[in-house]
Parts: sequence; structure tokens; C-alpha cells
Amino acid sequence: MTLARKILVTAALPYANGPIHIGHLVEYIQTDIWVRFQKLMGNRCIFIWADDTHGTAIMISAKKAGVTEEEFIARMNEEHQRDFGTFQIAYDNYGSTNSPENRELCGRIWSALRQAGLIVEKDVSQLYDPVAGTFLADRFVKGTCPKCKSPNQYGDNCEKCFATYSATDVIDPVSTLTGTKPEIRSAKHLFVELEKLHSFLNEWVQSGNHLQTEIVNYLKGHFLHEPLRDWDISRPAKYFGFEIPDSPGNYWFVWFDAPIGYMASLEQWCKKTGEEFNDWWPQGDDAENTGAEIHHFIGKDITYFHTLFWPGMLHAAKFKLPTKVHIHGFLTVGSEKMSKSKGTFIKAATYAKHLDVSALRYYYASKLGPRLDDLDLNPGEFIDKVNSDLVGKVVNIASRCAKFVQTSGLSAKYPDDGGLFMQGIAAGKEIAAAYEGCDYARAMRLIMELAASANVYIDGKEPWKIAKDPARAQEVQDACTVGLNLFRQIAVYLSPVLPKLAEQAGALLNEPITKWERAQTPLSGTKVTSFSHMMKRLELKDFEAMIEESKESQESGVKSQESAADSDAALLAEPLVADLISIDDFTKIDLRVARVINAEEVPEAKKLLKLTLGLGGDVKRQVFAGIKAAYKPADLVGRLVIVVANLQPRQMKFGLSEGMVTACGTGGEEVFLLSLDEGAKPGMRVH
Ligand SMILES: [Zn+2]
Repeated sequence: MTLARKILVTAALPYANGPIHIGHLVEYIQTDIWVRFQKLMGNRCIFIWADDTHGTAIMISAKKAGVTEEEFIARMNEEHQRDFGTFQIAYDNYGSTNSPENRELCGRIWSALRQAGLIVEKDVSQLYDPVAGTFLADRFVKGTCPKCKSPNQYGDNCEKCFATYSATDVIDPVSTLTGTKPEIRSAKHLFVELEKLHSFLNEWVQSGNHLQTEIVNYLKGHFLHEPLRDWDISRPAKYFGFEIPDSPGNYWFVWFDAPIGYMASLEQWCKKTGEEFNDWWPQGDDAENTGAEIHHFIGKDITYFHTLFWPGMLHAAKFKLPTKVHIHGFLTVGSEKMSKSKGTFIKAATYAKHLDVSALRYYYASKLGPRLDDLDLNPGEFIDKVNSDLVGKVVNIASRCAKFVQTSGLSAKYPDDGGLFMQGIAAGKEIAAAYEGCDYARAMRLIMELAASANVYIDGKEPWKIAKDPARAQEVQDACTVGLNLFRQIAVYLSPVLPKLAEQAGALLNEPITKWERAQTPLSGTKVTSFSHMMKRLELKDFEAMIEESKESQESGVKSQESAADSDAALLAEPLVADLISIDDFTKIDLRVARVINAEEVPEAKKLLKLTLGLGGDVKRQVFAGIKAAYKPADLVGRLVIVVANLQPRQMKFGLSEGMVTACGTGGEEVFLLSLDEGAKPGMRVH
């Protein structure tokens, strides 16, 4: 009998700035499977996390939504937890980084960093968005990479050449908050001198199997081979976060308090359950030898926060260090980055409306390995895999056997099965090792091999045929007893991934699946309840409907919360660089509502349509507009447009143009005329 392990697990804290999407779910499902597996093994495992609630983005989003930051994050927290419930993510505590527990723990760790002499104060020139009235976090700056010159890169690192740099070095920076060109302003910031922890980090990274090999190499190659840069840990007001107690007017940077949020959530769980914080996450000289194993699951984009800054902070405050940081790759859909315009940026709630939650859990599991490879959700492969593995193999075992033992129950003694159940027990050791090592893809392959053998067995016995002969009743009962026991064994192995199927299997055979070791003893003589439907075949049309809906919600974008998720591509293509104007400047432009009376092509001009616009009464204007690729003349006649009515007339080759029709877009087919709400009349002025 091995001693139960004590394990504390976290997933990266979801940012309280938007809804959960299927990209996030890769990690949450990965974490949940690992936690469920540990619990099933009889280990004391808790899953602790929270919403990450601080920073500039939250301030901006709350403002857009017209609520306070506190109201905004409360609403997000509720929404996130609703989605986790839907996807059967089972955690022990879900907190918020904006909690009193977190503030207190931040203070403790901050004092420890001060005492260790790791904090220095420096003037920092940072990009400042004059329109938003805030300094800009790196993530809110986009521009050209100073190293490889790739356009459209974030302010802290380049996705093309992986360079990291300071936002002030970005070429042609643009604030993604407002689309304006930021200015450089100076302010006092506090820094952690990470270089003082270099030798500690060097050793921690490279010893003890805390990190995957690729990560160790990445850290050595990108950070540890040279002096570590000081880490800017504060932001000046205004900032939504915790004010630094000994530095009024300055706030802890969101990345300081976010990982401490793991501890704060643990603290909340301890208060709830009467457990001792120190028994789980100890502090002091002996911390490494006591407490729980600490496992963080994160995506590769936040590697350096969790493998350099976080261990550095914990070490300075003498808290126990992570046992392991499990890092995964990103989700692609159809081998491409998730995209809002293509409808592949799918919200968790939208997925659940159209498709089976268990299907996604299984598909992700079948794709997740121990390394950092990206994971592709390919619609065709997804449908085929789920239908063939879960419906065609796993559920098929039960559906082909259960009805024949509905009245008799299972055989009194487990019959001879040619060694199949024993093979399943042996495979269980390998499957468990694969779960433990986060190689779920391997675990799923091994389980499907068992399912295939079980189906071969049932195909050979053909209970549906022999059941017609009353003399062979015992044979039928035995065959189905074997089939259902193999099904149950598989359901135990799949239960971290498919908790619902495990529940159904437990109900079918009147014995709930609560322990991994249940897969080692076959059931005999038990009653079989009537078989109820376990899983439906997936249809491609449902997947397509989901994509369609994801496109729609993007287009309408009416809800304030959703507008925060609009792409910044248009703003970046045409930044807000125009000088400020007075209201008098604006009123110089006479914008009017006009009706298109006539529209015709201009044979000599490729792009132009000749429009006759009526401004009410007899007032008409002839205008040439570059909208030929986007609009057919016949479709325009009768509609209302907005025209610049006092533009100096311009003599063109084809005639006089007496104004300009307003439109937006990048040109060609991407031209969108402004339209008017009902009630507007030709001649009305735009104010
Ligand atoms: Zn680059």
C-alpha cells in the first residue's frame, strides 16, 4: 500500500476581461483531468484557482461596460464559473485576485523582497496613452519588432523571432486601447533585481525535474545565459489593483499579485474547510521538505512569469517552490490561429449550445501530450474520432450487451474471458503512468485498444443471435457479463476525461466508480439497470452551426462586454493620429443625409460610380464615388447616404463631382457606406 500523496494543483488564472473560449479550455480540461486522475488514485489532491482581476485592461473594459471594476469582475467571475460547471471542471476553490487574502499575502511577500534587498526604485520612461489617460502595459502596445522588423507585434515580445524587448523600443507603436500613437512619459517604478537570484534560478530551473526539457533549454538560451533584467513590478496611478503600502500612488503590477492569487485561493479554501495553510504551502527553512506537492498548469505564453519571477518571489519569501510547472501549447482550429472573423474563436458557452461537452474533453485528451506542441481542433477529425472511438467503440460495448441481462443481472461468477480482463488490469498500470506524465494521448490510445478487443470479443459471441435460443441463456449471460465488465473497466480508465460516462456506467451496473482500483476486480451477480442512451453521434452540421454563430456574435457586437473583444486590426491599420479639433472645426463640415436618385457605371473609370443624390426638394448633387467594386448601381437607388455637402466641387475627366459620399473600409470590395436609422430624411444635417 503506497501512501496517499498530498497534491495542490493550479491552472493559470483566467483573466476577468472576457468570456472563456475553447482555447482556454485546453488548459482547464487538461488540469481537471489530472486532478480527477489523482483523486481517483486515492491521493489528496486539491484544485485551487481564481479570476485574475487587476490591470489596465479591466479598467478599460469596466468603463466601456459602464460599471465599476468591482461590478465588472464580479460578473465575469460568475460567468466563468458557470462555463466551468458546464464543462465539468471540478475545482475545490475559485477565488479572485481582488480579495483581502490576496492583498495580505502580497504584503507579506513584498516585505520579504524588501528585506532581502531585492527592490530598487528607478525612473522609467513608458508609453503613455493620452486619450485613455494611462500608462500602457506592454500588451496594449503593438508595432514593429525592433529586431526582425515584423509588423503588428506586441510591446513585450515578438511572435515571429521570439525577441523580448521594451515597449519603448517598438517601432511605430500604437496603443491598442484607443488606437492612438502613445507618448513617452517618465514615472518612478519599483523593480525586483532578479539578477541577485540568478544562481538560485539557474539551479532550480535545471534540477529537480521541475520543468519540461524544452522549457529548460528555452530558459537557458533566452534568459539565463546573460544577466537577468530587473523586473518592473509597480505601476503608477491610475491602476486597478493593490496600492503598495510603502509606496503610495504606486500599485503592484498585475503579474505580481496574479500568482500570489494561487495562495490566496488556497487560504480561502483553508478557511472554508478548516485546513492549515502551512500544511499545504509551507514557509520557512524546512518548507521544501514539507507540505503538498505544488503543480502549476500553464500555457507557453506565460512561461517566464512562472519559471523565473514566481520561483524568485517564493524563494525570497521562503515559501515552498513549485514541484512542477506543466506547460502546454496553443489551440489552433483547422490548423490556423483562432479567428473571430472566421468564426473559430468559439466561446465555451457557444460550444456547449451546439455540441457535447464530453466530446471536446475526449478530443483534447486524445491530442494532449507531455510536450508543448500546439493542438489542432480539426472539425472532420474531431467528428470522426469521437464517433468512432466513443460512440462506435466504447458505448457500443454496453449498448450491445446490457439489454440481454436486464432481468437476469450479471452471472454469479465471472466467466472465463480468455484473459481479457487481466490484460485490462495490466494495461491500467501503463494508462496510469501516462496520465501522471500528462501524456493523455497515449492513455487514450491504450484505452481504445482495450475497447477494440472488447468489441472483437462481443462480435465473436453475438449475444443478439444466441439470445433467440432459450437453451443458450447461460451463454448469453456470460458473454454479456464479460462485455459489461470490460466496459466498466474502460469507463474507470476514462473517468478522469469523461466523468459523465463514468457516472452512467456506475448507474448501469449499480456500483458507482469512485476509485481507480475498481478496474481490478470484475463485478458478478449484480443487477443491471435498464440501459439508457449514453452518447449521441456528432454531426458536422452542428459544428458548422457553431462556427456560424461564432461569426454572428462577432458581427453584431452589440453587447458592451463583447465589444471589448473586437479585433484591433482596423485601428492598427489606420491609427488615431489626427490632431484634435474644436467643435468649430467640426461644424465647418456640412454633412447631410441624401437619397440616391440615380446610380450608373462610368465606363472609363474602373472604380467609380456616378451618383445623383437628392437632398430634398429640387436640390440635387452629382457625385463620383469609388464604390464600384462593393456596390451594384441598382442596389443603391433609393437608399440614404451621408454626403459632405460643402466640399469644393472638383472637375473630373468624366464630369463635375459636387461632394463626397462617406464610407469606411479598406477599399475595393471592403467599402461600407454609412446607413441611417429609420426616420432620417434627405436634407437633415449631421451634428
Ligand atoms: Zn521579431
